[in-house]
Amino acid sequence: MRDFEYARPTTLADALNLIATHNGQSRLLAGGTDLIDHIRMERLTPDWVIDIKSVPELNRLEADDTGFHLGAAVPCWRIKQDETICNSYSALADSCRIIGGIQIQNRASVGGNLCNSGPAADSTPSLIALNATCVIDGVHGRREVAVEEFCTGPGKNVLDPGEILLELRFPTALPWSGSHYRRFIPRNEMDIASVSVGAWVQLNESGERFEAVRVAMGAVAPTPLYVPEISDELAGQSVSEETIQRAAVLATAAAQPIDDMRGTVEFRKHVSGVLTRRVLTEAVERARTGQVQFHVPG
Ligand SMILES: Cc1cc2nc3c(=O)[nH]c(=O)nc-3n(C[C@H](O)[C@H](O)[C@H](O)COP(=O)(O)OP(=O)(O)OC[C@H]3O[C@@H](n4cnc5c(N)ncnc54)[C@H](O)[C@@H]3O)c2cc1C
Repeated sequence: MRDFEYARPTTLADALNLIATHNGQSRLLAGGTDLIDHIRMERLTPDWVIDIKSVPELNRLEADDTGFHLGAAVPCWRIKQDETICNSYSALADSCRIIGGIQIQNRASVGGNLCNSGPAADSTPSLIALNATCVIDGVHGRREVAVEEFCTGPGKNVLDPGEILLELRFPTALPWSGSHYRRFIPRNEMDIASVSVGAWVQLNESGERFEAVRVAMGAVAPTPLYVPEISDELAGQSVSEETIQRAAVLATAAAQPIDDMRGTVEFRKHVSGVLTRRVLTEAVERARTGQVQFHVPG
């Protein structure tokens, strides 16, 4: 493993100064569960590693009148145990319960999962379904980007070398809303999704009609994929097996997977529809009952 210098700033200003000073020659470290492997395999060769875990702004996990704030360095174990996340943004808790295992969840952050920008990253479809916004800071100021516009290709995103993902901000949770995330993994391989789906629904007060829907898929395109056709199709429609099946058909059509060791194009398109149907059905159940049953122990 190539040697590098290590810094652990404790303020955002110091972190931004370090990034600016070593512009292009540094990498940020949150949990390190992706970064250390990239450095060990020499896919990345930074001169400086800047550990951002001690920056208070990157550790926020709280609501205010602008929404819910998730600092980019907050590890999965805190997210999956947070009461507001579990009740109101439960797709993200589903994601954090299945990333790696307990040891990985103790270190890995959702910010790092997003910035690593893998097409199969398990938190990104949930972030898109929940309509989260990336708050980005840097030497040239602060800007915001919708999560569905953040990734630009496998391992690539909109961050400039001098920028940092500060936090993910979610809209204030609404009553009669629910969300869910699931993935399909090949059992003979590593736990990387063949297909994954995150969904969020907003129902009317009787729970009989969709007011709004957002569905996103992972591992079926070069970047995590938001499917706006499903939002358009389901808004204002009654909740039924037939309308949910229409969404499944749209998901199958939107998926553009490749053939690889995790499945063929035909299989992954089929699973896109199956998972969309199941995930929407569970999101509706959560919205109607206000109860969340997790499938994976936390
Ligand atoms: C055994 C194992 C199992 C895994 N299983 C899964 C799985 O099931 N599902 C899954 O999705 N992933 C999995 N992963 C991958 C990894 O754990 C996740 O992607 C994790 O969420 C990364 O978070 P991190 O905090 O460790 O990121 P890091 O490794 O610290 O960072 C990842 C990348 O993002 C950059 N970065 C981090 N934070 C910021 C920031 N705030 N601003 C700008 N850039 C930033 C880093 O420079 C680096 O390039 C697994 C990894 C291992 C080792």
